[in-house]
Amino acid sequence: MTAAFDAAALANRATSALRAYDPGHDLPALRQRFGGVLSELGSNENPLGPSPLAMEAATAVLNDVWRYPDPLGASLKHALSAELGISVDRITLGNGSHELLMLLAQCFADADHPVVHSQYGFAVFPIAAAAAGAPAVRVPALPADHPDAPYGHDLDAIADAVDASTRLVYLANPNNPTGTWFTDAALEDFLARVPTDTLVVVDEAYHEYVDAAGLSTGLHLLDRYPNLIVTRTFSKAYALAGLRIGYMLSHPSVAAVCERLRESFNVNAVALAAAEAALGDHEHRARVREVNQRDRAWLAEALTGRGLRVLPSQTNFLLVDLGRDAADFERHLFEHAVIVRPMGGYGLPHTVRISIGSRDELQRLLENLS
Ligand SMILES: *Cc1c(COP(=O)(O)O)cnc(C)c1O
Repeated sequence: MTAAFDAAALANRATSALRAYDPGHDLPALRQRFGGVLSELGSNENPLGPSPLAMEAATAVLNDVWRYPDPLGASLKHALSAELGISVDRITLGNGSHELLMLLAQCFADADHPVVHSQYGFAVFPIAAAAAGAPAVRVPALPADHPDAPYGHDLDAIADAVDASTRLVYLANPNNPTGTWFTDAALEDFLARVPTDTLVVVDEAYHEYVDAAGLSTGLHLLDRYPNLIVTRTFSKAYALAGLRIGYMLSHPSVAAVCERLRESFNVNAVALAAAEAALGDHEHRARVREVNQRDRAWLAEALTGRGLRVLPSQTNFLLVDLGRDAADFERHLFEHAVIVRPMGGYGLPHTVRISIGSRDELQRLLENLS
């Protein structure tokens, strides 16, 4: 008799500490079941869709899919370089920014060099640390009743948690799932406090949506702080989530280290072409931003008018604090074909995250609030 085979016992130490991603709902099955009336407000997708120029570029590349993509992504990098005023050797491309966040921990953190991140920060941060076999230090978030950033990053506490052994700090600005942010000046104060040997990653996945006073980007600090790393994505405002492409801006030596481990063809040819075209369509980007600002304010007001506590947001979603367990709320909406994201997995079971979908989707949300 042989014992039942179970590879779980064979997983290495880092992988043993991890669990598989839980998508929440089987969205393809739900789309079939509900057809066009499904309101998908759980994944922060852009309801306007990508630039028509990006669609055109993507389609044109389909004739060449028998070829490997450019492993250097040179054409897109040159376009990013021109757009951002940053040299090509500071740019790394990823299969989504998720891949880049993982890659950074794999390249720089280990058992002796911990990672620091915030409670209620983006979920990938502690996973990246665990996958690299590095301890993850979770710093308590700002309190629920903080006037500017409830549940947001406490930069002072995070700086206090950093010591000489800390190799990486992950910040998200604005943060998912809280929607909160910190100003460019606060980031600069933070960078001035932490050692130069501690890499500070600022995840700017929602950068294109921000409009708050004092908030733009960490990019202009890159020259003064070689340990600063900024990640961005084409998944949100550029609406190319399905193609999986993101980018990272860093000191050239950080990019060079990441190149050692980056899978040579990590970004596919369709994504490269679509991203480059999307980047050039400033008009579409401006429209996406405008519509999101308008509908974010509109939805926040509508929800507040129904007695709900809506947290401040600089993103394309709102975090709603129900002050009680949100499971019933979420289930009720789900039964009416409205999908929102429960936040129990983040330790915020009394909240739901609602994406700024199309007006039709948001109307159906409001109609079905009991
Ligand atoms: C959506 C999101 C990302 C982007 O992930 P991709 O892998 O680029 O699709 C990264 N960080 C945060 C905080 C996000 O919300």
